[in-house]
Amino acid sequence: MRSLWTMGMAAILAIPLAFTAPSASAAVPPDISLTAVKAHLTQLQSIATANGGNRAHGRPGYLASANYVKGLLDGAGFTTTLQSFTYGGATGYNVVADWPGGDPNDILMVGAHLDSVTAGPGINDNGSGSAAILETALEVSRQSLAPTKHLRFAWWGAEELGLRGSQAYVNSLSATERAKVKGYYNFDMVGSPNAGYFVYDGDNSDGVGSGPGPAGSAQLEATLQAYFTSIGVATRGTDFDGRSDYGPFIAVGIPAGGTFTGAEGVKTSAQATLWGGTSGQAFDPCYHRACDTTANISDTALNRNADAIAYAVWTTATATPPTIVWQDTFETSTGWTTNPSGTDTATSGQWERGVPQATTSSGAKQLGTTVSAHGSNSSTADFLRVKVVGSTTTQVFQQLGAASNPWSRPASTTSR
Ligand SMILES: [Zn+2]
Repeated sequence: MRSLWTMGMAAILAIPLAFTAPSASAAVPPDISLTAVKAHLTQLQSIATANGGNRAHGRPGYLASANYVKGLLDGAGFTTTLQSFTYGGATGYNVVADWPGGDPNDILMVGAHLDSVTAGPGINDNGSGSAAILETALEVSRQSLAPTKHLRFAWWGAEELGLRGSQAYVNSLSATERAKVKGYYNFDMVGSPNAGYFVYDGDNSDGVGSGPGPAGSAQLEATLQAYFTSIGVATRGTDFDGRSDYGPFIAVGIPAGGTFTGAEGVKTSAQATLWGGTSGQAFDPCYHRACDTTANISDTALNRNADAIAYAVWTTATATPPTIVWQDTFETSTGWTTNPSGTDTATSGQWERGVPQATTSSGAKQLGTTVSAHGSNSSTADFLRVKVVGSTTTQVFQQLGAASNPWSRPASTTSR
């Protein structure tokens, strides 16, 4: 192969290239029963009604909600913990449920806040997310799912008072335990009556608000998007703005993802065209109000999101990780062929790592630590091509030279 660098300064950061074996296909995700999800909402509504109209932190309706969730999970074979914490002079609780099995060093967590505000029963916010992940967990049990990852579900307390339960949970993990959590899916308000279909913008492709989530967030986002694409529903990004329980996770470097159907924000006419519903009205007109009851739910939005959750859990947790079958930095050949066709003019066919001499003229013109440089006479005649040669020959990578910057590292070169 012809080296891009022989005409230039011969300085480049080597690109590790890896070929991976195709991963085994993930288990087929289930269709989560809308009827079953709504039955949980009915129970949460009854709990609120019996306990002063809410399920708020420190109120009896909260602990009753936690016990309802925990009881079903205990009966389904989960290992559950009622983790208590104190906030505002009251005891709060997280329900944490581990599904036995999977790689204990590769944990996928799925969470939703279980508390309401004091103003109402909190059925969309966030009975919806709580019920959808509960039914997903119960389906894991019904199918006796044997995921490659370890699955852990969580229902957080005191989210409405500032992410108190999820923060207490993350604080309770040692650095070693945190490092085992490779991803966190969060679901908060997934049945808004005037619904939008938002997915947390893990890769910051929208470029608004906060930057991207920790590495891996983009994959969690892409998995959820893939589900909505499969049912023909367009999604839009929603920024990691810190308004829900993913906050404490991304703060310690755990990648996160999730969906959201909108709160007090007003649906635009463009969004109404995209998704239906009523422009000029809030996604959830009963957000944090007494009218956030079982009547305050879009069945369509709840059904789609519950299925998206199951799709994401099944896809992420049951996929067999790819294994590297060959890799090379191109600074040292580990078996690739230089100039296989005998047709090019490369001098070595290998990357050279070099540091140019620093030059100064009225300020720095060339840094002594530059990691990449090329000649101004470079063109597409200079290239790196990688081909897999067998009974057929496939070109798997090409990078052409250019006289101008930038030369960016293709993101795809290390993935499968
Ligand atoms: Zn919420």
